[in-house]
Amino acid sequence: MLLTKTANVKWYYKTKEYYENKGYVFTKFNDIFEVSIEDLYEGSSVYVEYQCDFCGKKRNKVYKDYTDSKKNDFTNKDACRGCYPIRKEENMKIRQRKGILKRNDPYYWKFKENRLEELKLYIEKHGTLDSITMGEGIIINQQMNNYKDDLEEMVNELGYSLFDLVSRIPIGYYDDFNKLEKNILVLIEKYSRFPRLAECQNEGISQYIIDKHGGIDEIKRKMKYYDDTDLIDDRGWYNKSSYEYMVAQFLISYNIPYKREQYPFPNSEREFRSDFTLFPLNKEPIHVEVWGYNDKLDNDIEMEYSKRKKEKKELYEKYGVNLISIEKSIFKDTKYHQIIESLYIIFKDFLEIKYVHVEDAIIIPTNLISDEELFDKIMEYSDNDDCLPNTSRSFDKKGFGRLYKEIIKRYDSFSDFGKKFNMITFNEKMKNDKLNIQQFNI
Ligand SMILES: [Zn+2]
Repeated sequence: MLLTKTANVKWYYKTKEYYENKGYVFTKFNDIFEVSIEDLYEGSSVYVEYQCDFCGKKRNKVYKDYTDSKKNDFTNKDACRGCYPIRKEENMKIRQRKGILKRNDPYYWKFKENRLEELKLYIEKHGTLDSITMGEGIIINQQMNNYKDDLEEMVNELGYSLFDLVSRIPIGYYDDFNKLEKNILVLIEKYSRFPRLAECQNEGISQYIIDKHGGIDEIKRKMKYYDDTDLIDDRGWYNKSSYEYMVAQFLISYNIPYKREQYPFPNSEREFRSDFTLFPLNKEPIHVEVWGYNDKLDNDIEMEYSKRKKEKKELYEKYGVNLISIEKSIFKDTKYHQIIESLYIIFKDFLEIKYVHVEDAIIIPTNLISDEELFDKIMEYSDNDDCLPNTSRSFDKKGFGRLYKEIIKRYDSFSDFGKKFNMITFNEKMKNDKLNIQQFNI
């Protein structure tokens, strides 16, 4: 906003006619006279005061410079030197709106709609984005990088799919974990499970990309993808069995350092790995094997397993490698706190460890259902909404036994489990009902 209202000027030959036309009466050359600011000659070199419409500062300027700065201005605002870029940007916005901003104008690429338009024209002309980093594409690509555009998002916005426009997945595409996740979700849908490495590779997700994101297990973890068979311990390791899982959780609880899947034997026996390796101070490492089957041989798998187990045990003997052998029997049909006890007894023979209390919940495999889910599932077997299922009748029903066993592992009794959910057992209900009837009869 111009603050100066009037200005003193002299009569000059050059401006005499101009001012006379404005109604000023000539006296003589070099005489000073006062003019209203609207009448001031636009090339005048008198100083005028204006206020910046952006920051409010008051500034002086030669009137000619002032009028020059108003040329090509669409904002109708005054800007001090500091605020000039703000006014410029506002001007560019107006020009963009009016459709008169040109490709070479400084702000042209700043508008996403222009970058989109350029990209659209490029796609229409070339039909592919394979050469976007070359020739005509260079500037578009450069500007998109400048403004951190996401090529795929832009392409989608134009109604295309990136994968239809490229013959190879662009370098760095999967640096963005969200993109990897999105495409793995598609593969999960396709295979109804987490894709295997080879399946990922078929889709252009290379080993390099997988490794870059920490490997399959790490990706699963980041995606919060859990298979029924996944037994991820507190160190993020995917255990092969619930027994291994329990041992891992035990060792973690006891702060016992270990490594997984190490080679206990010389290179000639590289096919063998142990489940855990412990490193006691000033002693040889100790390997831990968690055996998955008992020694009774009911079928081919158990026979094969047993053979391999025997072979492995012999190798431990042969090479004199320390072994902690954990048999299946300590896990089977045992309460969790007893499993913890057994593991403590086993490990304390080899390591100097002090007893610590470990909650059952720590070693209950995370893939097993929660108490709440267990309760919902068990109630499906009950004929009454107000009591637990009748156990003497339910064991014949498919699946009941497995759930019941799990409950008994976690609770001292079926009745104790019911108490947690304010649910009585079938027998308790019978007793209550009888009592009620008796009272009624009185
Ligand atoms: Zn300003």
